[in-house]
Amino acid sequence: MRRFYLSALIALCVLCFAGYAVPDQRLFMWLVALGLIIFVLTPAVLSQIVERSMNKTRGKKKYYSVRGEAAALHSRLFIVDLHADTLLWNRNILMRHGYGHVDLPRLVEGNVAMQVFGVVTRVPAGQNFESNRADSGDLLVPLTIVQGWPIRTWKSPLRRALYQAEKLEWFAANARGRQFMLIRNQQDIDELLQRRAQNPVIVGGFPALEGAHALEGRVANLDLLYDAGFRMFGLSHFFDNEACGSAHGVEKGGLTPFGEEVVHRVMAKNMILDLAHASEQTIDDVLDITDKVPVVVSHTGVRGTCDNQRNLKDDHIKRIAAYGGVIGIAIFDTAIGETSVEAAAKAMRYTADLAGVDCVAFGSDFDGTVVTPIDASGIVQLTDALMSQGFSEEDIYKIMGGNFLRICRAILPKA
Ligand SMILES: [Zn+2]
Repeated sequence: MRRFYLSALIALCVLCFAGYAVPDQRLFMWLVALGLIIFVLTPAVLSQIVERSMNKTRGKKKYYSVRGEAAALHSRLFIVDLHADTLLWNRNILMRHGYGHVDLPRLVEGNVAMQVFGVVTRVPAGQNFESNRADSGDLLVPLTIVQGWPIRTWKSPLRRALYQAEKLEWFAANARGRQFMLIRNQQDIDELLQRRAQNPVIVGGFPALEGAHALEGRVANLDLLYDAGFRMFGLSHFFDNEACGSAHGVEKGGLTPFGEEVVHRVMAKNMILDLAHASEQTIDDVLDITDKVPVVVSHTGVRGTCDNQRNLKDDHIKRIAAYGGVIGIAIFDTAIGETSVEAAAKAMRYTADLAGVDCVAFGSDFDGTVVTPIDASGIVQLTDALMSQGFSEEDIYKIMGGNFLRICRAILPKA
């Protein structure tokens, strides 16, 4: 609402100026009309053009067909997707869209019970998987402006994080019949399970940070994020930050003293620690201090099936699994080698064979400027591919959500 008033004020100023500068009344009225049309349409049109070019689904399937037994099993699962960057975009997730990957109607169609919403707060210019400088230009400046985000978010990663959490809160508050609910603690999970038992179209979710740079150098800002509903905390994103090295940074170093402080604060606040995008050294350093507390790698691939620096080494998979942690396998080519659900199922098979099925999970990276084989409505195809990999019903239940539910039960606050 504040944004509306600010926009109206700016429009009024422009109108006053135009009225002063253009003596011809009719020309003035035309200019006013044109100005208002551009003002209203620019964010809506431009942001849609940008997003359509970035979050693509391979093929143009209207709906996804699978074997009958796969569909039957899929309907019995409690499905959790550990990572989708949907809040970065201007879509109203309460409505169905013909582009992007995630919205509530498509989550329901995909039988998703819980969606973790990744929150991106800075994207380095020229982003790549090999090496990104922390001081390179920030692509989120033009994106936030084009999308009409509040001015306070234009420069501040922290404000961008808080704004995206606000959006999620708005969706929960405005979902008809509370069809989308925020998960903040174990009571909320109990409620989600109870409500889904009566009506399987209820979806829960919470925001998860991608990169400790959003703390803007102050551990105390973690409290603001917690209060805003963040329940998962990713230490790194595409560049080295004050807390740790990134797998795609320049130095790719380990945890700094500040980072150590952050890790301890995250654990003290009963938030889930996420090692996606972390450098090898950071993963080692974090596992040294988290001890028996399970961690998550929310969206990744494994080098055993797709060998690149974005993906997890066998040693790390085993170590994370040994502490009861969970690894969310993503579904885009840099993570799994090709754009197919079969490749994701293969990476899950590899991880399960290496370290046990209890560490395997699903973290799509939907809406993360990637091309995926399906959108959220087609997750049943992954269930089908897991059956083809010879996983049992119990295994598939664990992979598709049961394992992450176990982490939530172990870590999130009771009430
Ligand atoms: Zn990511």
